[in-house]
Amino acid sequence: MKNTDMEQNIKEVLVDEETIARTVKELGKQITEDYKGKELIVVGILKGAIMFLSDLVREVKIPLILDFMSVSSYGDSTQTSGAVRFLKDLEVSIEGKHVLIVEDIVDTGLTFNYLLDNLRSRKPASLKTCTFLDKPSRRKADVQVDYKGLEVPDEFVVGYGLDFAEEYRNLPYIAVLKPEVYENK
Ligand code: 5GP
Repeated sequence: MKNTDMEQNIKEVLVDEETIARTVKELGKQITEDYKGKELIVVGILKGAIMFLSDLVREVKIPLILDFMSVSSYGDSTQTSGAVRFLKDLEVSIEGKHVLIVEDIVDTGLTFNYLLDNLRSRKPASLKTCTFLDKPSRRKADVQVDYKGLEVPDEFVVGYGLDFAEEYRNLPYIAVLKPEVYENK
């Protein structure tokens, strides 16, 4: 893909940069208030959550530890297989700590479900979830989302960390691609 193709392939911008900044600021404020005086570990889920995570933690005004996990549920297509593959584990122990998992988007909820089960067994003091985007219409697993940025319709979105076949993560907004782009992959 040539660089110039990226913007030509966009059908619609769903969430612009200003809305992203406002939403992230608000979430950061809530998290700051809720975790005051607590030892917080923020767990980002690679790779999709990196943009959101880096903006979010700069809006959280208390000390925290940052760590990452990587799982794969989509491969190269836009359809979930239901199977979650574990690619990278945490480097720090979460036992007795307050843990906040940060995702880019919750769709079926299968990924969060898997991660929550896995992390719960490590005995954190508390375990909460935060997602930038939510597609509630597609939910298959009954997961609790504690901090939610914005709801989006049932469309495959890209940008602000979210990819299509590993591309488009660097778009500074959330967009939907033209149908032929998805079809031609
Ligand atoms: P779930 O397990 O909730 O179905 O899916 C979670 C993961 O699937 C997300 O972390 C994300 O990587 C991917 N995903 C779900 N919906 C979308 C979407 O609309 N666009 C992109 N790029 N990825 C998505």
